[in-house]
Amino acid sequence: MHSTQSQLLINGEWRDATGGRTMPVINPATEETIAEVAAATRDDVEAVVAAARGALAGPWGTMPARERGRLLWKLGARLMERADEFARLETLHNGKPITESRQIEIPAAAECLQYYAGWADKVQGETVPVKGSQLVYTLREPLGVVAAIVPWNFPLLLATWKVAPALATGNTVILKPASQTPLTALALGALALEVGFPPGVLNVVTGAGATVGQALVEHPGIDKIAFTGDTSTGKGIMRSAADTLKHLTLELGGKSPNIVFADADLDAALRGATMGIFYGKGEVCAAGSRLLVDASIRDEFIEKVAARARKMVPGDPLDPKTRLGAISSKAQLERVLNYVEIAKREGAQLVAGGARADIGTGKGFFMQPTVFASVTPEMTIAREEIFGPVLATIEFGDVDEAIARANQSMYGLAAAVWTRDVRKAHYVASKLKAGTVWVNTYNVYDAAAPFGGYKQSGFGRELGEHALDYYTQTKTVWVELG
Ligand code: NAD
Repeated sequence: MHSTQSQLLINGEWRDATGGRTMPVINPATEETIAEVAAATRDDVEAVVAAARGALAGPWGTMPARERGRLLWKLGARLMERADEFARLETLHNGKPITESRQIEIPAAAECLQYYAGWADKVQGETVPVKGSQLVYTLREPLGVVAAIVPWNFPLLLATWKVAPALATGNTVILKPASQTPLTALALGALALEVGFPPGVLNVVTGAGATVGQALVEHPGIDKIAFTGDTSTGKGIMRSAADTLKHLTLELGGKSPNIVFADADLDAALRGATMGIFYGKGEVCAAGSRLLVDASIRDEFIEKVAARARKMVPGDPLDPKTRLGAISSKAQLERVLNYVEIAKREGAQLVAGGARADIGTGKGFFMQPTVFASVTPEMTIAREEIFGPVLATIEFGDVDEAIARANQSMYGLAAAVWTRDVRKAHYVASKLKAGTVWVNTYNVYDAAAPFGGYKQSGFGRELGEHALDYYTQTKTVWVELG
């Protein structure tokens, strides 16, 4: 066992779940239980909602915006001071390589907190010229209590994408991490207390989505659900949230096309194609899981991608040299392997990987990086999100066919285009139905750049100035001057 927070954080206090139930947290690289965290009940949800509502009426509600910003800045700074510890925790419960946790995810989480620290005192209303004799102005007010429900692939980063704009704009937050990966959310709650956030402003409750998550979605004391997760879960949340007419932002699944034209810098495109699918073990909502390749370079390019995949060997996530870690859970590994079987049955050609891997310990949920050739748009692996290191490669004949195939999906989270032709790059970017389009790069993010989905990848935007709109409501004040 590693010493870490394992209780619920409600109103600034650490508590066991009512009834004392816990749930195990498994290290997917060793299959060991590394912690037992509280499994919250509906009673705990009542208590946490009361705490978050109470905090709105407490010092937080009257705290100057600049002071809120200072607290968020401090939280980001403290997170970076403790980055090694947070990175280790993230890798232990998720299985991602320590290099990804330490170099990318934790710094990006800290940056997100500090980016929104800067916004706290810059969210302004306006004065509105009207035809009558009144002074009309608007106030941007917080929504109230926000429940942030996050998945297991980027546990801390996706939490900060919600917590930071919510707190910057004066809401209080109930953070519910995924059951598989609750440790860094709990550690973030502890840091928030340390830096001086008042009790009840950031609460963390752990437990099953179907009970705790569902109870949060149904609770009339919550004003907004900020959710990242599976599209089907998101649809259920939208239905349940209708009863209390909650504000919603949904960041859901994807099946993002990565389009390589023959005139691209093919070495760069090759790196982009492999990193686009194998970064984060492919457990990335925006993973470039459909590689669309110009027919004129198809065989050569796909063989190069497959050769790189064969060279990528999964390893111990805690080893700084490891570039491919463990799949997050046994269930997820089984799901990914099942897709490999479906792909083979449907006639796709396996050109790399395709099986469970062993790193020499006989333990852990490791998977070989997998590439399929001869995939057609109708096949299951071209349509459904696998959320693992499995690449479907599809050919296209010309620009119009590339665009049509790219858009042939119920999802629209991200897309990329690789070409040296500037006109083609912008033309294709304008035609793609996706919330993010990368040109000659993949998987880049910034706290300042909005991110979110088209179509069934969800709605609302996270990050950037855009996110502030989803955590505030506008009040129009009319003052009679006549
Ligand atoms: P999931 O939908 O199963 O779970 C996400 C969260 O929702 C967890 O905290 C879970 O406990 C909770 N939950 C489950 N059922 C619930 C319910 N009925 N009510 C309320 N909460 C509930 O998703 P997952 O398997 O953890 O994550 C993988 C999925 O997330 C993938 O499909 C991926 O594409 C998607 N994802 C999307 C983005 C994005 O930004 N669009 C980012 C990361 C992951």
